[in-house]
Amino acid sequence: MLSLEEIVNKIKEQTGLDVAAVQNKIEEKKAELSGLISSEGAAHLVARDLNVDILTRVTHRLEVKNVVPGMRNAEIVARVYRVFPVREFERNGAKGRVANVVLWDPTGTIRLSLWNDEIKTLETLKEGDVVKIVGYSKEDNRGEPELRLGGRGKIEKTDAEFPAIVDAAETKNAANVGELREGATAKIRGAIVQMFESDPFYEVCPQCGIRVRANDNKFFCDEHQYVTPDYSMVLSGVIDDGTMSMRVVFFRDVAEKLLGMGVTQALEIARERMNRTAPITERAGGILGKEMVFGGRVKRNQMFDRLEFIVSEIGEVNAAEEANKILLSLEA
Ligand SMILES: [Zn+2]
Repeated sequence: MLSLEEIVNKIKEQTGLDVAAVQNKIEEKKAELSGLISSEGAAHLVARDLNVDILTRVTHRLEVKNVVPGMRNAEIVARVYRVFPVREFERNGAKGRVANVVLWDPTGTIRLSLWNDEIKTLETLKEGDVVKIVGYSKEDNRGEPELRLGGRGKIEKTDAEFPAIVDAAETKNAANVGELREGATAKIRGAIVQMFESDPFYEVCPQCGIRVRANDNKFFCDEHQYVTPDYSMVLSGVIDDGTMSMRVVFFRDVAEKLLGMGVTQALEIARERMNRTAPITERAGGILGKEMVFGGRVKRNQMFDRLEFIVSEIGEVNAAEEANKILLSLEA
């Protein structure tokens, strides 16, 4: 997540307002939302009101903590933290090789998976090297983001200044400093202050609903073999409850509820605009800054020190109940 200073600077650059004017608007926004939102959260909303694009950064150069499954053209600069030995495997009669690399930046660590010919790039790399990677991200079999190079991706060594590796277990993500512990189920009352504009669609088996693997433009389910896939959606963003912010992820029906449209309609919009993120762009205005109640579970990246909130239900804030509470407190 961008810092307050970074957001203020972006607003300043793109609108010509001076810093004091921007800060004023942020304070006004906080007051408007009864102080329920942090300064960063309010700054996101001011940026949106002024049509300032602060999302571009997450679609280009990313901090490791901001990589989520489904991003195309993700670019990160990181240090090589671990290089695991090459594994050979056989699938459908064809032999293949895979090598996993763990990358580190001060916000966390992430796995990069190299396949077949891509593995050659490892010959020139060693642990501790600083590398620049352009690739895409997908969900691994534990539900975590994983980087891949793919046809247009690349990995190259760079001489860029970069912090030295701190033990990954000690790398804290400031956005996750809250009361929520790993594994806790919780209801958070807050607002989404940022939506990541990454491809929300993924293919699932029409019979069991499980994510399918792509193989030569065909889709394969472990149980049902080759299938004509249905689509599901995954959305992610940042939630803010006034005391902290945290990454949130919405899958399937919860993603549909958040967007206010089914996957079929979302696909239609994406096809019409020839842009897979168009449904998110279209609905972001109605989502960002709206106070809601999110039920779900806090999940920790196994290998990395990062908490995420996986939402299982979204509820409206009950306005009548709130009004009653206020009245009661006034009477008291
Ligand atoms: Zn299946």
